[in-house]
Amino acid sequence: MAELQNLTVIGSGVLGSQIAFQAAYFGKNVTVYDISDEIVAKLPAKWERLSQLYVRDMAATPEQLDAARARLSETTDLAAALADADVVIEAVPENLELKRKVWAQIGAAAPSGTLFCTNSSTLLPSAIADATGHPERFLALHFANEVWRNNTGEVMGHAGTDPAAVTAVLQFAGEIGMVPIHVEKEQPGYILNTLLVPLLSAATHLWINGVAEVEDIDKTWRTATGSPLGPFQILDHVGMETLYQINLNTGTEESKRVAERVKTEYIDKGYLGMDSGRGFYTY
Ligand code: NAD
Repeated sequence: MAELQNLTVIGSGVLGSQIAFQAAYFGKNVTVYDISDEIVAKLPAKWERLSQLYVRDMAATPEQLDAARARLSETTDLAAALADADVVIEAVPENLELKRKVWAQIGAAAPSGTLFCTNSSTLLPSAIADATGHPERFLALHFANEVWRNNTGEVMGHAGTDPAAVTAVLQFAGEIGMVPIHVEKEQPGYILNTLLVPLLSAATHLWINGVAEVEDIDKTWRTATGSPLGPFQILDHVGMETLYQINLNTGTEESKRVAERVKTEYIDKGYLGMDSGRGFYTY
């Protein structure tokens, strides 16, 4: 398959803007589509903020950042956004109905041969594939938040994905600075969250039941496994709002207690995790 040089990112929120900037930084031509002029007008400020983070974390030079900015364009015109796309990455909100609607529009407007990737965290590609009209070209390319440094690119097709599309997207992920990971069959949570979610919920189980202090739970994990971070340090990266929402949605008696404690002891006091300077730990 020819090199995938032109990327279109659909949805310019937290992940979409990061994916777009990362691909442009690594030399791709990137068009970013979102639904309103108001949202698109905020993108230059996002590029500026990301530029600062790339200086901090990637030792990016002004020349590299200028070149990345020059390869980025923004639009609210879907047909124009897709006209030259070799690959599309969709990062719209995590809602099956919305994603299927958006993919039907993309599938109808994109050139034949364009590869279609969703960044969905929890929806399986097989739940969306038929909506695209071209299921053989549809698969997941899943990024983690802060894509430039948490740079896994989990590539997961559905049963009907053309293996050549999987190979091409694995290659593309490597070209934009990701560590490509092939998830060979559909798995909710991919590899990362299949491993991480049980660890984090075991940690909150120990905490909410008074088995051990946060520091001792983390110390045990770091000392015994050699991991640089314990589960509560990871949770401070994830953020208290997300921890709260996940536990609220889980709906068990124990998860409700976790949600309540996270809200009253942390969120209500403005301790939202590492980004706010305080979560389980003070930074
Ligand atoms: P977000 O809410 O920050 O951004 C979503 C963007 O999509 C917004 O800019 C919104 O205006 C836009 N949008 C809404 N409707 C649209 C439409 N019809 N067409 C085009 N754009 C539309 O969401 P996010 O956190 O960036 O998540 C996006 C996707 O990425 C989700 O599938 C999520 O599961 C996945 N993801 C998120 C994270 C994370 O940490 N936030 C990590 C990995 C994967």
